[in-house]
Amino acid sequence: MRKISIFGATGSIGQNTIDLIRRAPGDYDTVALTGGGNIARLAADAIELRADVAVTAFPNRLDDLRAALAGSDVEAAAGPEALLEAAARPADWVMSAIIGAAGLAPGLKALEQGATLALANKESLVCAGQLLLNTARQHNARILPVDSEHSAVFQGMVGEKIDEVERIIITASGGAFRDWPLEDLPKASLAQASSHPNWDMGQRITIDSASMFNKALEVIETREFFGVSPSQIEVLVHPESLVHALVGFRDGALMAHVGAPDMRHAIGYALHWPERRDLPVARLDLALAGQLNFRAPEQARYPALRLAWQVMERGGMMGAVFNAAKERALDHFIAGQCRFTDMADTVAAVLEHMEAQSSLIDAAMTLDNVSQVDHLARKGADDVLKQRAG
Ligand code: NDP
Ligand code: MG
Repeated sequence: MRKISIFGATGSIGQNTIDLIRRAPGDYDTVALTGGGNIARLAADAIELRADVAVTAFPNRLDDLRAALAGSDVEAAAGPEALLEAAARPADWVMSAIIGAAGLAPGLKALEQGATLALANKESLVCAGQLLLNTARQHNARILPVDSEHSAVFQGMVGEKIDEVERIIITASGGAFRDWPLEDLPKASLAQASSHPNWDMGQRITIDSASMFNKALEVIETREFFGVSPSQIEVLVHPESLVHALVGFRDGALMAHVGAPDMRHAIGYALHWPERRDLPVARLDLALAGQLNFRAPEQARYPALRLAWQVMERGGMMGAVFNAAKERALDHFIAGQCRFTDMADTVAAVLEHMEAQSSLIDAAMTLDNVSQVDHLARKGADDVLKQRAG
C-alpha cells in the first residue's frame, strides 16, 4: 500500500484527489489530510479514509475538529506548525493543494522527507522555484506537475530532450470576461468574476483566470519547472479548453495534449506516474467538439501577463513579490474593497516599488527570506490600495 497525504484536502483539487483515492481504497494508506475552515468535510474524509491525522490550518478551529472527529481513531491538530509536523510524517506521495503561498512550507517539508510531491500549488514554484527544486534534488525527491498545462507539457516531453524543445505554449480559456467590452471591466462584480466558462475550480483561481493572473503564475511556473527561458514561453487563448498545452521542437513538430477539462486527469497522471491507469474522465469526441479556436491574448484585457515577463526578467525573489501582491489585491477584490481592474494596477505598482530593492530581492532564496519578501509585498499592496481608495 502506498502511503499518501493530501494538503488542501477540502478544496477543489483535494476533493478531486480524494475522488480518485476513494475508487481504490485498498491501494492507499492515508497518513494526513489537511484543510482550513471546512471542518465537517475534513473530518468526514479523514474518518472515511482512516487517516492517521487531520489538520486544520486555523488554530482557533481545533476544538471544532476534535468534536467532529470524536469517537474515531483520527488524531486532530491545528495551525501552521501542525501542518509542518504532518508534512514530516513519512509518505510516498503527497498532494500539495493548499491555496496560495501557505502551501510552500509544507511542500518543502514533504520534499525533505524524500516524498514525491504532486504539485498543484503553483504559488510554491512562483515564490521559491529554485529553493523547491534544490530541496527536491538534495533529498532525492521528485516533483510532479498537477496544473493541467504543466502536466500536459510534462506528458508531451516523455522520451524527449529538453534542449530540443524550442518553445512551450500554454493555453488559457480567456476567463469570464474574454468577450466583454474592455470599458466594462472596471465594473465587473465578484459574482461575475467567480464563474468560469469551462473549468470547475476554487473561487480564487477562478477569479485569477478572469484576470489572467493565473496564467501569469503559470508562465513563471513553466520557466521554473522546465528550465526554459522566458522567450521560449507563449500563451494562447483557446476558448474551448480542450488543448491544454503544446510543446514545439527544433524540427518544427508541435505536440499538443488534448482532453476534456477535468482535473482528475492531471491528478491521476501524477498519482500513477510513470504508469498510466484507467481514469474516470470523459473521453473526448472531437467530431462533436467540431472546432478548436485559438487567438493571441489581448494586452489591454490581460495586463497581468506582461507582468509575468517583467518578473522573470528581473529575477531574484520577484516571483514572491508578484504572488504576494496578487494574493493581497485578490483579498481586497473579494472583500469588495477594490475594483477588478485595480488588481493588476496594484501588483504593477508593488513590482515597480520593490524591484530596485536589491538587498531584499537578490538575497539568498531561503524560506525566511521568501517569507520576509512576501510580507513586505502584501503590506505594499495594502498601502497602494489604501492610497487609491483615499
Ligand atoms: P480551494 O480554494 O478550492 O482549496 C484550497 C485548500 O486550501 C482548501 O483545503 C482550504 O481549506 C485550504 N486552505 C485555505 N487557506 C489555507 C491556509 N491559510 N493554510 C492552509 N490551508 C489553507 O483551491 P483549489 O483546490 O482551487 O486550488 C488549490 C491549488 O491548486 C492552488 O494552488 C491552485 O492554484 C492550484 N490549482 C487548482 C486547480 C483547480 O482546478 N482548482 C487547477 C490547477 C491548479 P478550506 O477550504 O477547508 O478552508
Ligand atoms: Mg492551470
